[in-house]
Amino acid sequence: MTYRTVSCAYCPPTVRACRQGESDTRGPGFCPSKVDPGGVAVGSSRYDDPFVRDVAQASAIVESEGYCRWTRVEEIVQLAKRLGFRKLGIATCISFVDLAHTLSAILESHGFEVASAACKNGGVAKESIGVRDDQKIRPGTYEPMCNPVSQATLLNHAGCQLNIVLGLCVGHDSLFFKHSDGLATTLVAKDRVLAHNPIGALHLADTYYARVWGPDRPAKPRSQPAEGRSNDSPS
Ligand code: SF4
Ligand code: SF4
Repeated sequence: MTYRTVSCAYCPPTVRACRQGESDTRGPGFCPSKVDPGGVAVGSSRYDDPFVRDVAQASAIVESEGYCRWTRVEEIVQLAKRLGFRKLGIATCISFVDLAHTLSAILESHGFEVASAACKNGGVAKESIGVRDDQKIRPGTYEPMCNPVSQATLLNHAGCQLNIVLGLCVGHDSLFFKHSDGLATTLVAKDRVLAHNPIGALHLADTYYARVWGPDRPAKPRSQPAEGRSNDSPS
C-alpha cells in the first residue's frame, strides 16, 4: 500500500534503517524517505543557514563529548559556550524559583549573564483570559494566570540568546517556545505526578499507569500505522 503519513513510531527494532543511512532502500513504506522525501530535502536545506548549521554542529559535538557523562545542566552550559552566547534566560514556574536561583548561580559561575522570569510575572488574574472562577484550582481565591508570553517577551527584551525552561506546564511551555526569540531548551518538564519525570508514564503504560490509555486501546501492540491497519490481525 502507499502511505501518506510519516510514522516512524511504528518502525520495527529490526529495521530503523536511518541509523545506517539506508532508509532509502530498507525503510518501511511509512518511512519519511518513502512518504515525503521532499520534506527530508527541505529540512536538510535549512542547515545551509549558518546559524542553524552552527547550532546543529555544536549540539552534535556536545552530545558526543559528554556522552553519558554530562548532566543536562552541563550540556546546556557547554552548548551555550560553544555557540559563543553571553546572555541566557530562565523561564521558570513560580514553584521552581528556588531551583531557578541555583541554576542562575551555576550559569553565572560559568561567566554568563542571566535573566530570569517567573510564570506569574505581572500578577494578571486568570479571569483576564476567560477562566471562570469555578475553573480555577481554588475557586473563590485570587489566582494569577501563568504568563509564558510575557516570560518570553521579558527574556527577549533582555537579549537572551538561549532560554531554559524550568518546569513550565503543558501548553504554557508551548506558548513560551512559540514566543521566544532566542533558542529555547527544556531543563525540567513539569509532571506533578511523576516528580517531573514524564517518561515514567510511557515506561509503565502497560502496568501502573495503564490509565493513560484511551478507550480504543488495542488488545495487543499494533504493527502498522493507521493507514496500514487492514494488514494487522484483528485485536
Ligand atoms: S526514518 Fe525510516 S528507517 Fe528511520 S525510524 Fe523512521 S521509518 Fe524507520
Ligand atoms: S501554571 Fe504551571 S508554570 Fe505557572 S505556576 Fe502553575 S505550575 Fe507553575
